[in-house]
Amino acid sequence: MTTPSTAFIGLGSNLGNPLQQLHQALEALHQLAHTTLTDTSPIYRSAPVGPQDQPKFLNMAARLDTRLTPLELLDRLLEIEDLQGRVRHQTWGPRVIDLDILLFGEESVDHERLQIPHAELPNRDFVLRPLLDLEPELRLPDGRRLDLLLAACPCNNLERLEDA
Ligand code: AMP
Repeated sequence: MTTPSTAFIGLGSNLGNPLQQLHQALEALHQLAHTTLTDTSPIYRSAPVGPQDQPKFLNMAARLDTRLTPLELLDRLLEIEDLQGRVRHQTWGPRVIDLDILLFGEESVDHERLQIPHAELPNRDFVLRPLLDLEPELRLPDGRRLDLLLAACPCNNLERLEDA
């Protein structure tokens, strides 16, 4: 049997009781076949990227050990999004739940349906901050340190939710 890979998932929500949406998605990740949910980050509130006439987001990251391939994991995440009633309207618009594969072991993936590391990872403090909470030494596959990327990245006025 293949050894599992460590994957990091970014979770975001700004509609339909975002805190409940995050918890529901975590429960779904916990139930995923061939996969163990090994840790979760604190939750952060962030200003929206793109259209500003929408509620603030709640964001967090989760760490998985998985024997799924990256594309299999993507399909499972899309199923979870669909189950939670996500409708895709507008790029960077409001969403019930958004699940992204941020990192997958040391792998770089450039597929028509999947880019890993996630293309926006280096530019988003609401992704970098929770990833660093999970692993302060984390690097991209090309060796770049996430803490240095965070220091250089635009600020979305992150607020950490205590005891969420
Ligand atoms: P969005 O609705 O903006 O989150 O985009 C969803 C689509 O992005 C998915 O259907 C994927 O095909 C594509 N995608 C590309 N790279 C990734 C990634 N690393 N994680 C999740 N989705 C991705």
